[in-house]
Amino acid sequence: MLRRALALIVVFLVGACATPIVVVDAGTPCEASSFTVLDDFGGARRGRCEVLANNHVRLSIVPEDDGYINPSPWFAFKLVPTAEVKAIVSLQYLGGHHRYVPKTSSDGLNWSPIDASQAEISADTTVATFTVSLENDAVWVSAQELLMPAAYDAWAVEIASQTDAERLLLGYSIGKRSIHYLVTDPSANNVLLLVGRQHPPEVSGAFAFFSFVETLLGDTELAARFREHFQIVAIPLMNPDGVLAGHWRHNLGSTDINRDWGIFNQPETRLVGELLEKLDSEGRRVRVFLDFHSTKRNAFYVQDHSEPTDPPNFFAAWFERATPRLDDYPFTYEPRFGEHPGVGKNYMYRRYGIPSATYEVGDETDREATRRAAVVFAEELMQLMLETLAEARR
Ligand SMILES: [Zn+2]
Repeated sequence: MLRRALALIVVFLVGACATPIVVVDAGTPCEASSFTVLDDFGGARRGRCEVLANNHVRLSIVPEDDGYINPSPWFAFKLVPTAEVKAIVSLQYLGGHHRYVPKTSSDGLNWSPIDASQAEISADTTVATFTVSLENDAVWVSAQELLMPAAYDAWAVEIASQTDAERLLLGYSIGKRSIHYLVTDPSANNVLLLVGRQHPPEVSGAFAFFSFVETLLGDTELAARFREHFQIVAIPLMNPDGVLAGHWRHNLGSTDINRDWGIFNQPETRLVGELLEKLDSEGRRVRVFLDFHSTKRNAFYVQDHSEPTDPPNFFAAWFERATPRLDDYPFTYEPRFGEHPGVGKNYMYRRYGIPSATYEVGDETDREATRRAAVVFAEELMQLMLETLAEARR
């Protein structure tokens, strides 16, 4: 009896408070008996790695600095097997809670979410444990698809080669990485300004951005007519440094750049300020501003009743037209007073009085539904902006 009780105690101790066999810091390969955890690629993030058992590692997931960080606990690492194994991974969030369904990829391009029902989340949601089956090849595990600056470059180069948009250099980030933008016909005096990826983990918003811009630049009759009247200025990747460093929120200046508009202390946002000065000095008029992000659900944050826009009630009209076409993309439309002046949407509203929205895509919203919805939103926006322009000329 005593022996059995002791055995139970030993099992309990091993199970609950496993003493790590190996402990290594971020940046050092972490070797379990049949696989190694690497964080040596763009977008990677893991903190300390502890090997708890032959096939079980615990990774601490920590934000980039000590300032206020939005709870967007990004992680990305690679599991490299030496034998076939079911690797058990525990993510221990320090300064955050489990949010993103882990996604795996064997090529870094095609991703699938793990079966969320087989992940075990602790009651306080600070630990998530799941299994990754490893055979011969390395497997990436990431909070969201790894959509790095090189992928943006490839996309923008391709778009510029196939459409009448040009890809131009806007300037450089703190880390001296280039920030590009796409721009169409300079003879149009009205401007539609779009920006994306101010916040590094917000990959789901990028899928909407790509599809939205592709629709604006498409060879449809509507898009061609739209581009005769509106210049499209699209900055897909505002925070390349944060994306490459696997940040939860900030740029390399420990700043949430979506709180820096108008202050323009950070080079990434200052570049936009300079672009706006240039557009203003050329006599162009920014008419609508959209800023693509991700949150837990599909939503648009827009001006409330105390903030009249020119043209008035633009968003209500836009969403009324889009909704009947969006059966598989539920979304909310949330007028709220834009209190913080450094948020892109609020700054653009205050500077120009125009409809300015944060376009939020749910973290786990189906990617194809996101793309299809962005086509609809882009089409309805073009139609509405053209009608509004025609009315103003009457
Ligand atoms: Zn955001």
